[in-house]
Order: sequence, then C-alpha cells, then structure tokens
Amino acid sequence: MCQLPADFLSAMKDLLGDDYDRYAAGISEEPYKGISVNRLKTDPERLLPLLPFGVEQSPFYEDGYRITGEAQGMGRLPLHHAGAFYVQEPSASSAVGLLQVRPGEKVLDLCAAPGGKSAQIASCLRGKGLLWSNEVVRSRAQILLSNMERMGVANGVVSSCFPEVLCEKHRDYFDKILVDAPCSGEGMFRKNPVAAAEWSREHVLACADRQLSILHSASIALRKGGRMVYSTCTFSREENEGVIQRFLETHPDFEPCAVTPVFGRPSGVSCGIRITPLEGGEGHFAAVLQRKGEGISVLAANRGGREREDPLAGTVRKELQSIFTELPAGRMTVIKDKAILLPEELPDLTGSGVIRAGVLAGEWKKNRLEPAHALFMASSPDRCCRVLSLSPEDPRLEDFLKGYEIDCSAGSGYTAVAAADIILGFGKCSGGRLKNKYPKGLRNTL
Ligand code: SAM
Repeated sequence: MCQLPADFLSAMKDLLGDDYDRYAAGISEEPYKGISVNRLKTDPERLLPLLPFGVEQSPFYEDGYRITGEAQGMGRLPLHHAGAFYVQEPSASSAVGLLQVRPGEKVLDLCAAPGGKSAQIASCLRGKGLLWSNEVVRSRAQILLSNMERMGVANGVVSSCFPEVLCEKHRDYFDKILVDAPCSGEGMFRKNPVAAAEWSREHVLACADRQLSILHSASIALRKGGRMVYSTCTFSREENEGVIQRFLETHPDFEPCAVTPVFGRPSGVSCGIRITPLEGGEGHFAAVLQRKGEGISVLAANRGGREREDPLAGTVRKELQSIFTELPAGRMTVIKDKAILLPEELPDLTGSGVIRAGVLAGEWKKNRLEPAHALFMASSPDRCCRVLSLSPEDPRLEDFLKGYEIDCSAGSGYTAVAAADIILGFGKCSGGRLKNKYPKGLRNTL
C-alpha cells in the first residue's frame, strides 16, 4: 500500500471524526472480497455448499456474501465460468438493493462495465422485463457483454454510447435507473493502489462535475414516478452529498427518497448511505432519488412476440429443435449470418450504440447453423436435448475449460456441458468424445 495523500487523509478525518483512528489503523489490511449469487442460474441454498471457500452473509445485499479466508483463483472455477456467481466487493452490491428492482421492469444501468451491478439487476429481474446495460468505453463494453453472456442474461441490451445521447433517445422510458458513476475511487485504495497514486483534490472536483452531468442525462430517461440510484465507490462529500444536492437544486421534478440505514452509516443527505471499511466493505455511497408524478410503465412501440418474427426465423428455430427443447422467450431475427433472439420488450435501438440486444442464438457456417455459446449460457439442462452434467470437481471440467476434448457419453450432436447442473458451455459429441466449443478468449490458461 502506497502512502495516502495528506489532503485525502485530512478529508477522511473530517468525515469520520472519532472513527478516524480506527479507519487509519486498517489502511494496510487486506481488502474485503465477496460474491453475489446469480438467481438466473442457481440460488444460495444450492450454490454455497459447492463453493471451495468460506462465505458469510453480507449485510449489504440479500444475495451477497463476504468471503472468509483464502479464495485464490475464483475466476478459474467451473461455477464461475457457469455464471453461478459474480465476484464483487461486498459494499459494491449495496446500490442495486436500494434500486428495488422487480421482475418485468425496464432498467437502465448507465455506467455498467465490467457488469457487477448489471449482473445483480439481471438476477433481480428473473428474466422478465428489460435490462439495458451501457458503457461509454468501447473496450470495457465488450467485457460487459462477455459478463452478461456468462450470467445467462437473455432480456438485455448492451450498448456503448454517451449518456447524453442514449438518454435523449429514450426519454421517459425506464422504470429504474442506476448511475454507478466514474469517481476518484477512494474506496478502492486498498484494492488498487494506483487509484491512490492518482488521487488529487482537482481530480475529485472534476469527477463531481462529470457525475452531475451523467446524473442529469439519466434523469431524462427516467419515467415519471421512476426510481434512480446514484452510487460511487468514493468517500468524498463533493462527489456524493455535493452531487446529490446540486442535482436536486436544479431538478425540481426529483425528490430524495429517505433511506433507513440498515447497513453502512448515515450520510449528509437523507436519501444516501455511506459504507466505509469500518462497516465491513471497501467503500461505497448510494443515494435514492425519485422522479415526481404518477407514471406508468410505457411499453415499447415495437414490442413483438413470435408472431412478428422474420421469415428466416422458422428455419433457425427448426435447426435449434434438435439441440434445445425450449428456447428463452423472445423474437428470433436474422441479421446477415447471425441469428439473434431479441428480448420481447425492446425500444427502438437505432442511434444508441447497441452492441448486442438479446442473445446470439447461432451463426451460419458453410450453410449450417452453429449454435452460439451465449444461447447455451442462457439455457438450463432441462431445456437442452443433450447434457453432459458433471460435478464441479470432475477433472474433465478443468480440461474442458482449457479447451481440450473430453470423454462424453451423452449421445451424438451438440451437447451442453454443465457443472452441478449449471451450463458453462457446449461441445459436439461423437463416438464417446466431446469436441470442445468453449470460446478461446474465455478458456483457462494452461
Ligand atoms: N457499475 C459497474 C459495475 O458494477 O461493474 C462499475 C462502473 S465504474 C464505477 C464506472 C464506469 O463509468 C466505468 O466503466 C467507466 O468507463 C465509465 N465512464 C467513464 N467515463 C464516463 C462518462 N463520461 N460517462 C459515463 N460513463 C463513464
């Protein structure tokens, strides 16, 4: 841990008062680690006994768990590849709980990469409604997409767009919006010493101005009566209370939603909660805002079911019938050589920097439709014709995740591969061997 800037420490002293000494004493301690469970794939009762590391319930989120003890190489575990959980610093999970997402809602996650909070929102939606995850930095948006595929999200859109452009395009559309804004990262200092080295007062103030501008954009896309959560992983008053106060002064159609802290500590605004390492997380701030008025959830104009599918969709569905007994809900569409299963609820996508809407179902290769990895990830063993279901410790899984062929007695044809009944990929089975189709970029290194 590098030396923390004197100005930062002095601001923390001012913020924490009598608690400052305890905070300062913990600066060089190990950071908290955690996971959030993905209910699209499993539930805590089934998952927790399978984990090779200890966990305890997190105070910050119903499906969040703090890791107790050593947990090296979590990303290499079959259950991680299967999207059963997302590795997430415990306090980072607090904001989504405050957003109170319900199945069927339309939710925008405006600053979404790498995707921890989008994974939580998808889990809360239970596959119903729409999750629009946006990330302005294109390379990070690709990581976001990969994570949404891993979590098995079928009712999502991933885009890379400037907030002001995206939100203008989708005025009054979303029921809920999360603005997990880029910040000075004071809550990351134990985990990421680079953030500490880059800290300056000027940076904090520049972040605050940028956060206010992003929050203003978000306000445009929220429907009347909709709920918005603003969060950061920093402690500074300027980037937290200051941004909320400035926003409310200039947006009379918004009101603060008072939150009763069941975790963290009260902040300088009634609608906000702050978490510091003293409360068991690395550091987060979250505030809840509501747009005034009686709004109703507007259905998208081009909402479509199977009856409005394009003519080639029938061919795609027929090809997939020998692999899946049931596909996720959605409208099959064909764009060039790709078949895509679009979410049922979808607004106009033009001009929004969309990278993916729904699930890639397959691609034509030499006049044959090859099913896509993402479609298997959005499926479950009971909806597949052939499944090789292995226990998480089966050495074949380790080989599969490295890209090797493995033994398989599931019959002949495209076959899902599952760890503890959670699909993590697929291959093509023939003669007792499974030819590996696990995407190269996702494989465990040797
Ligand atoms: N919500 C994410 C999660 O839980 O995994 C973390 C988001 S991170 C705190 C903030 C994100 O905002 C970063 O991915 C960053 O690239 C993005 N960002 C940077 N500048 C931005 C801007 N001007 N407008 C919107 N997003 C921005």
